[in-house]
Amino acid sequence: MNSIERTLLTLEHRQPDRVPVDLHNFLVTARMMGANSYADFFRDGAAMAEGQIKAWQRFGHDVLLVENGTAALAEACGVQVEYLSDSAPVAKVPAIESLDEVDQLKIPDPYMDPRLSELLKATRIVVEEIGDKAFIIGRADQGPFSLASEIRGLSNFLMDLAMGKQLEQIHKLLDYCRQAVYRYAMAQIEQGAHCTSIGDSPSGPDLISPKYYRKFAYPYVKQLVADLKASNVMLSYHICGNATPIIEDMISTKATIIEIDQKADMQICKEAARGKTTLLGPIDPSEIMAKGTPEMVTEKCREALEILAPGGGFILGPGCALPATTPDENIDAMIETAKKYGRYH
Ligand SMILES: [Zn+2]
Repeated sequence: MNSIERTLLTLEHRQPDRVPVDLHNFLVTARMMGANSYADFFRDGAAMAEGQIKAWQRFGHDVLLVENGTAALAEACGVQVEYLSDSAPVAKVPAIESLDEVDQLKIPDPYMDPRLSELLKATRIVVEEIGDKAFIIGRADQGPFSLASEIRGLSNFLMDLAMGKQLEQIHKLLDYCRQAVYRYAMAQIEQGAHCTSIGDSPSGPDLISPKYYRKFAYPYVKQLVADLKASNVMLSYHICGNATPIIEDMISTKATIIEIDQKADMQICKEAARGKTTLLGPIDPSEIMAKGTPEMVTEKCREALEILAPGGGFILGPGCALPATTPDENIDAMIETAKKYGRYH
């Protein structure tokens, strides 16, 4: 059984030979490639593809996540992004100074945009090289709420929500973001990716209340999932931080995969997800994967497998992006644990 068969059976809530493993490892690929400047690496589609393939040859994980952080789509929408020499690019200056400017935003064409087109190239090369052996997720970057918070500036956007004075413009911005994400997601699939994904962590309970989540984040993801499903496209939906209070909502978006991290309650998430969605995660990327020992990784992975693997619908992986400093032997320990303790038969 190869990684694609293993992953597809998992997504159908059936039991393959063992639990598949995903790596959220774009920073690790930059380190493995010996990139002098991450700023150049994360703008170079061919280099990013080579890094992903090299990491796959080294670790043999089942699921690849092709991306370069949280700021690519935002940049295409007009946000000023800072490219760091030793970490992921970050959104710096918002694209709009007031909600009145929302009407001027244009939906980017991912094929014409200089950054997004490099990311599409990365996905295309990875698919061409190993897309018949590994399950490839071409990440469509940020979800509607997260993208809106980059375009408007996070603190400004949270203030807009709290004031609640320009609700029509707020919803216009979120709807613009939903359309921008949809277009980029479809372009990722057009490169041959098996699945696409979004990160929408600023909409999680660590930052806004479930009440606000339901009003300003949920409807847009639900619509996005429905639109993608109309073309048979699967979405993986990432909110790191403690997503437990909104896990039922996240699942009811009907996203194929829900990515959770170490703060989420595994028992509650498993009960809620059973037969409805596949959970991905939830190993602590920083304290365990980057700073822990292989023994600690094994222990945490075993615990997660015990709770989340029964009945299928589980992909083992880090709860968020692995830091570049994550030791290779910790990644090996994660994969070995899935092979040893994640077996179904
Ligand atoms: Zn995350």
